Amino acid sequence: MPYSQEIYHIAKDRLSERRRQALRAADYRREQLYLEIPALREINNELMSIGAAVAKSVVRNDNQHSIKELSERSLALQAEQNTILAENHIDKDIFEPKFTCEKCEDTGYIERDNRTEVCDCFLKLMADIAGEQLSANLPLNENTFKNFKLDYYSTEQDINGKIPFNRMSNIYNYCVSYADNFGIHSKSLLLRGGTGLGKTHLSLAIANEVIKKGFSVIYVSAPEICNKLEKEHFSHQYNDQEDTFNSLLKCDLLILDDLGTEFVSPFTVSCIYNIFNSRVLANKPTIISTNMQLNELVTTYSQRFVSRLIGSCDRLDFIGDDIRTQIK
Ligand SMILES: [Zn+2]
Repeated sequence: MPYSQEIYHIAKDRLSERRRQALRAADYRREQLYLEIPALREINNELMSIGAAVAKSVVRNDNQHSIKELSERSLALQAEQNTILAENHIDKDIFEPKFTCEKCEDTGYIERDNRTEVCDCFLKLMADIAGEQLSANLPLNENTFKNFKLDYYSTEQDINGKIPFNRMSNIYNYCVSYADNFGIHSKSLLLRGGTGLGKTHLSLAIANEVIKKGFSVIYVSAPEICNKLEKEHFSHQYNDQEDTFNSLLKCDLLILDDLGTEFVSPFTVSCIYNIFNSRVLANKPTIISTNMQLNELVTTYSQRFVSRLIGSCDRLDFIGDDIRTQIK
């Protein structure tokens, strides 16, 4: 479970808070119920004093007869309590805390075969936190499907005989339906085309919708993530580097923006390949956007990488004139 101390502690705090809230809510429900039906409080008080009396009797080694009497009284009280609850149409579980994770009751650990194991919910929380840290400060609200403007794309044929407006309408519809139907095994996408054609906007719009559905999404630009990995690697912060890799590999959707604008080195080339390839092998989707032509990608990265890209991605080729210069 290679996560840094920092992520471990943040996750632990969030779990404790979940557990505290579940217990507090259960106490509150109990108190409200006792105000409504005071007989239940009396039963509970008597049950507690019987519990204490049984414990005392066991310690003093009293005769079995008195212990048996106490147990019978206790069972009778519990039956009475259940009857009152049923008469008032109240679930028997009303007193039980409702934990987010029933398996570990929000402690983060489970006992199995006399061993303590980390619960899946704790692992998921650490992966989510590592992801949050990577894609903090995303301009999600500014980049939605709603505010994507197709009017910027020309309805006249370009030099290749293509009509940008038509092409981009198809791409837009494709992205909307991709986000609508997103699942953990959705296809990967390669968004290709010049700067200012809306690749980042549409990938953030997809991120927006996919996050709303509850999936974990990491959005990073290639220069940003390569800098980070390089820094962690060369300053020997191997734990941090492992956190970064882990979250890039584990999130449900990874969006790698602006591939090719990073400072390219053998280290970054192998990082990019490994990240993408590991996700392909794990059957997890990645959205990559780039300004580069396929032959440039081959020269910068490798034939192996580009073959992988082509083999596992749906390709969306953006065309038109730079929107940013049009807005100005
Ligand atoms: Zn759990």
